[in-house]
Amino acid sequence: MCGIFGCVLRNEMAGPIIRSALERLEYRGYDSIGQATLSSGKIFVKKDKGKISEVQKTLNFDEMLGKLGLGHTRWATHGMPSKENAHPHLDCDGNIAVVHNGIIENFMELRKNLEPKHKFRSRTDSEVISHLIEDYMEEGENLEEATRLTAKRIKGSFAVAAISNQEHDKLVCIKKESPLIVGVGEEGVYCSSDMSALLPLTKNALIMEDGELGVLKIDEIKFIKIKNGESVKKEITKIEWTLSDAMKGGYPHFTIKEINEQPTSIRNTLRISPIYHELIASKLCDSERIFLIACGTSYHACIAGSYLFSKISKIDSRPVIASEFKDQYSEILNSKTAIIALSQSGETADTIEALKTVREKKASILSITNVMGSSITRFSDIYIGQNSGPEIGVAATKSFTSQLAILTKLALTMATKRNSMDEENRREIDRGLKTLPSYIEKVIERVDDKVKSIAKKYVDSESFSFLGRGINSATALEGRLKLLELTYTPSLAYPAGEVKHGFIATVESNRPAIFIAPRDDNHNKIINNIMELKSRGAKIISLIEKDDKKIIEMSDDYIEMPQMHALLTPLTYIVPLQLFAYYMAVEKDLDPDKPRHLAKSVTVE
Ligand code: GLU
Repeated sequence: MCGIFGCVLRNEMAGPIIRSALERLEYRGYDSIGQATLSSGKIFVKKDKGKISEVQKTLNFDEMLGKLGLGHTRWATHGMPSKENAHPHLDCDGNIAVVHNGIIENFMELRKNLEPKHKFRSRTDSEVISHLIEDYMEEGENLEEATRLTAKRIKGSFAVAAISNQEHDKLVCIKKESPLIVGVGEEGVYCSSDMSALLPLTKNALIMEDGELGVLKIDEIKFIKIKNGESVKKEITKIEWTLSDAMKGGYPHFTIKEINEQPTSIRNTLRISPIYHELIASKLCDSERIFLIACGTSYHACIAGSYLFSKISKIDSRPVIASEFKDQYSEILNSKTAIIALSQSGETADTIEALKTVREKKASILSITNVMGSSITRFSDIYIGQNSGPEIGVAATKSFTSQLAILTKLALTMATKRNSMDEENRREIDRGLKTLPSYIEKVIERVDDKVKSIAKKYVDSESFSFLGRGINSATALEGRLKLLELTYTPSLAYPAGEVKHGFIATVESNRPAIFIAPRDDNHNKIINNIMELKSRGAKIISLIEKDDKKIIEMSDDYIEMPQMHALLTPLTYIVPLQLFAYYMAVEKDLDPDKPRHLAKSVTVE
């Protein structure tokens, strides 16, 4: 996720207009920044790694004059944050400039074909776009048609804006699965990743849909379908939002926005090229010992991941809390050990500290993080980017599902290598992963109101317990962590089989028990656990598969979930628990985005 912006103006102020638009988009991505403007028939580009305020001091974007221009604030997915990898990207001769938000899945193949004839300057997936447009323009197409044909060649997600010095009066933009809107103002027309950049410029927006191409000229805007060039009519939408509303996509808080973003963030996570999974899976399969290390939410993804490694890949691994790692395990690390480190920010101090020991002992470091170029990616032999886009809410939500989706894919890749599971089961999980984004969409749509009313009903409860079995013991831990973080309510999380060992003594009617109880191999056992608690006066809230009559009968409240492969249930069952924590915080009048005493990334030990 990043921010793109483009403008066609009556005046020559492209430089400062783009710079200030990018400042409003910077919350979408902030590892690099860049602008291109067209002036006196030439394209000028300024770009660099860093935050806008830093780069502006050295490059002074405001000096860039022109009526036509583009800007980009980057959240790297392919290629480290660097000047070369920052957008805009040019064609070979600097006649075309392009900004891109999203992921081009087939860029390797396209680049291989283009490389003999073209000069590539970056490691990004995006640069193929400018060279493809170049090829089509060389064949005699205009910018509009060259961009349309390019859009048909690229796979993945994209919001792209392109300009050419051959056609100095227009900007062409295309969209598929990355947001893009067009703004129509007195002084210019604009395209932008979201409304926040448009707000001071205009309140009139034209919303682009997937598969559309827009041609923006100062007195004429047209839209066509990428597929066949058919024209598309659009009505103006009035923007009524404030800047803060716009940054939150109309949601009251970033946390709820990010919970709702999960279908998109998982889609982007699953776009990671299988090559990375192959590389990591090979290392893991060749290792004698595997540790998964992390803190907080990432640690819970490790617990579920380790479960998948043993269940699916039939490989032993151990999840360890990063701050405990060195003390216990440093003596048994060697070059045959593989470590998977998980950290959203890539800067978690305890994880970095653990990795220092790992490096001394020459063990392999494989990592999963959301920030390319972070300390942990630099420490790693191989890493996979989560591609979740910036997470602003302090409590991690979309990070958890992205990290776990990656670990599930890794487990499947290892299973294929080791021939450790039957083909039908492997395919079922693989299919389940592919449909996961649309399942989560449905879950959010169906359960949101119900979760809200449950939060209202139980807001004054003294504490909560979260109980699950098997892989959903990890879901229970993560559900509890969300509630702790967002509402500060003392809560417990237990593998449900453990309740008799102490926990059951704490049962009271104002301490509800939340059961994560899909219809899996543990179903009968968890029914017994529910009975045990119910008969001791606990209020039962259950997360169940649709029409699970036995559990419905025993529950005070229940949330029905769509049927899916048991091993994928943490990825969906966590969503109502995230919503529950969020709505509880709202009911208690707390700020979910800024829980007391907490920091987004814990960069001290
Ligand atoms: N995939 C592109 C890159 O890594 C765009 C990333 C973004 O959306 O910021 O440069």
